[in-house]
Amino acid sequence: MVRFEVRTHSRTGFVDITSEVVEAVGESGVRSGIALVYCPHTTAGITINENADPDVVNDLEMKSTKLIERDDTDFTHAEGNSDSHLKSSLFGASETLIVEAGAPMLGTWQGVYLAEFDGPRTRSVFVKVVAG
Ligand code: ZN
Repeated sequence: MVRFEVRTHSRTGFVDITSEVVEAVGESGVRSGIALVYCPHTTAGITINENADPDVVNDLEMKSTKLIERDDTDFTHAEGNSDSHLKSSLFGASETLIVEAGAPMLGTWQGVYLAEFDGPRTRSVFVKVVAG
C-alpha cells in the first residue's frame, strides 16, 4: 500500500491527485488489477471528474456549498462542521480504478481528486493495488 499526504489551502476545494495515484500504481508493480484510492477522513472525500476545464470542479465546489449550507440551524453536531461530514458521505471516501498495463484506466478528461470539505488541513490518501 502507498500512502501520501495532500496539503489543502482552503475550507473547501478539489485537489488533483491524479499524478500521485498514477505514481502509486506504478510503484506497486501490478500490471493488471484494481486500485482502491481511499481517504481516511470524515470531512473529505475522493472523486473522479473532469480535469481539463478547472471550472468543472469549481462548479462542483460552488454548488455543493450552496446545496449544503454550513449554517443550517437544524444541524446538531457540536463541532459545527456537519456540512463537511454530509459532503464527505455524498462524494464518498474512495474510488476504485481498473489497472491495465501498470496504469489506472482513466478517461481522457478524467482526473482523481481529493475533495476537501473542512480545510485547510493535511490529508492522507491510501492507494491499495491488488493484482487480478
Ligand atoms: Zn465534526
